[in-house]
Amino acid sequence: MDTRARLNLYLACTFLLVFCISSFVLYRLLMDGALSEVRRESQLRMEMALAVRKYTIEDVRPLLQASGHTYHPPAIPAYAANRSMALLENDHPQYRYQEVALNPTNPANRATGWQVDAIESFRAEPARTQLTHFTDGPAGQVMHVLRPVRPTPDCMACHGAAAHAPADLLQRYGKAGFDWKVGDTVGAQIVSVPTAHAVRQAREAWGWHVAATVTVFGALFIVLNRMLSRTIIAPIETRSSAWRELATKDALTGALNRRSFDEQAQALMGACARSGAPLALVAVDVDHFKRINDSFGHAVGDAVLKEFAQRMLQTSKRRDCLYRLGGEEFALLLPHTDLEAAAAFAEVLRRSLERTPFSGAGHLSASFGVAVLLPGDTLGTLMERADRALYAAKDQGRNRVVCAPA
Ligand code: GH3
Ligand code: MG
Ligand code: MG
Repeated sequence: MDTRARLNLYLACTFLLVFCISSFVLYRLLMDGALSEVRRESQLRMEMALAVRKYTIEDVRPLLQASGHTYHPPAIPAYAANRSMALLENDHPQYRYQEVALNPTNPANRATGWQVDAIESFRAEPARTQLTHFTDGPAGQVMHVLRPVRPTPDCMACHGAAAHAPADLLQRYGKAGFDWKVGDTVGAQIVSVPTAHAVRQAREAWGWHVAATVTVFGALFIVLNRMLSRTIIAPIETRSSAWRELATKDALTGALNRRSFDEQAQALMGACARSGAPLALVAVDVDHFKRINDSFGHAVGDAVLKEFAQRMLQTSKRRDCLYRLGGEEFALLLPHTDLEAAAAFAEVLRRSLERTPFSGAGHLSASFGVAVLLPGDTLGTLMERADRALYAAKDQGRNRVVCAPA
């Protein structure tokens, strides 16, 4: 993977991680905020109901008692609160207020299902003053905030012993709703508020955050990418290709260097041994090169080596097979080439080098030793055979191609 792809991967992963964490945290915060808003609303409604109760006890009941009534529903705080809040529900049908009891006077106020469980948990934990319960309704989730109903001595007139109860109460409801104990938990006040609206608003806000974050990060990603690309990656890539060039090529001639030869020869030998394809190695040495240095100077010698390599590359038409092994010694690695073809190829090179004079040094020649990969060969044994063929060419008078026996 190149530097640019790696950088993009890091940026994308970082973005994804930050995005997921921030979105998750924000979602939780918004949802918590929505629920506490619903809770605040429920609290307000609960306080309204308590205010109605208080008004009934303090202002309405004394009037009715003064006028001689012993029992009248509007003077009952639970009745007054239920009734007043029911009027509110006309305009807000999703909202509800109820006072329910395990043993109510009016059977319509009997606690059922989870309401009974809530009252029981208030009874089990008398210190508890409030609890919250959620149910799913047709219009979505509903939050119920509950407070325990604990009778005061005032309540005992209608909820104490049935024998002392007002006659018209007994006549209306029978013997239900009696034997309550002062301070005992007998029921609960319940405010029910839908959460759907607040939750929808929170989700919308979250959706906007997600869209804004993706847009900002997307823009940031593009800008950062361009900036890093220009200021860091492009210079690094230029430098690294220069370093690669230095590490793999010979600075004077432009041919591949000894290190590349060792690496590529091993790789080619492995591949050819596996596939059964032939592989030829041609060792090349400039004839009497020392004389060039001695006659024309080292600088001309360098120029000749450079031209020698360029002419070999041009003639061979293959840029990736010429290696400078050291001094005026070169090698050619020819995959998919047998001994005969390699010798013919070396002969073409030899002739072309010999034919045209080198600038500043006149006519030159080179000797060639050709060997092919044999079963069980190492790079050392293969090179040794090519070298031996090269020495044979030198011995036989130079400027010739000699093949090692296959
Ligand atoms: P032979 O035909 O037997 O190969 O004779 P030769 O003179 O070519 O071989 P020898 O090994 O005697 O001399 C090689 C010379 O090449 C010696 C060395 O100074 C010269 N040489 C090696 N590397 C360089 C180089 O990079 N630049 C120059 N100018 N000369 C070099
Ligand atoms: Mg030589
Ligand atoms: Mg030599």
